[in-house]
Amino acid sequence: MDCLFCKIISGEIPSSKVYEDEYCYAFRDINPQAPVHILVVPKCHIESADVICGGNSLYVAKVFEAIPKIAASESLSEGYRVITNIGKHGCQSVKHLHFHILGGKQLSEKMD
Ligand code: 5GP
Ligand code: ZN
Repeated sequence: MDCLFCKIISGEIPSSKVYEDEYCYAFRDINPQAPVHILVVPKCHIESADVICGGNSLYVAKVFEAIPKIAASESLSEGYRVITNIGKHGCQSVKHLHFHILGGKQLSEKMD
């Protein structure tokens, strides 16, 4: 499958790894929007959060178990934001489910 994040998970495309376990992989965004900008992806190809279901939700749960560990390792004790973009209106550019962790500064209240 021609998927950028599947290739990053497999190591075919290099990335700056932050965390990895059996279910998920986390790496630094190539175009950071905050001092800390990490992408967390499940190690199975799920197109977006719009297709989360009983058959793949274990991977999503494991991603959310990993996020606090990653936040602690990045010293985000003052808080952070987790975002997932879905489809065209959500401006999803990579069609492999990913959660952005943004932090390291006071983020804006704006959500759009
Ligand atoms: P989306 O817009 O789909 O929510 O987020 C995709 C993210 O992937 C963007 O923030 C973009 O900067 C990041 N990205 C795109 N290509 C690469 C890449 O090759 N390596 C890394 N580390 N991040 C990438
Ligand atoms: Zn993929």
